[in-house]
Amino acid sequence: MKPRLIMCICTGECPGFKDLDLWRLVNYARNELDVEYAIVHPQLCVDDGDRFWSDYLKGDNNDTVYIVGGCDPRTQRKLFKEAFAEKGLDVEKNLLPLDLRNLPTEEAMKKVQEAVEEAKKIMGKG
Ligand code: SF4
Repeated sequence: MKPRLIMCICTGECPGFKDLDLWRLVNYARNELDVEYAIVHPQLCVDDGDRFWSDYLKGDNNDTVYIVGGCDPRTQRKLFKEAFAEKGLDVEKNLLPLDLRNLPTEEAMKKVQEAVEEAKKIMGKG
């Protein structure tokens, strides 16, 4: 298993992501970084986000690190704590939250690249 990247960008309407070329970032991650895959969810912090986590995290191995590109890391940990705990996962260990707001695409790419390296180390693959 490799780290997984999930991009979450406030429905695409948030001004905080206006400078981010989402598809360039996602394609860069899936083609050039050592991730299992990279996907996009429009809004993980509402009901269908909860349902997504509930389906998605099912049966996962506890070592997997989920890199979530989105908002403030402390907010992400608070928002996703319960969904992770329900599957026996810990947001302090299995979630690597990245704040990608107000970043140009190149900087976001660099931040994601560093996060993938960090996630691999956490998973013992770095
Ligand atoms: S989790 Fe954060 S980035 Fe994702 S939709 Fe909610 S506020 Fe936006």
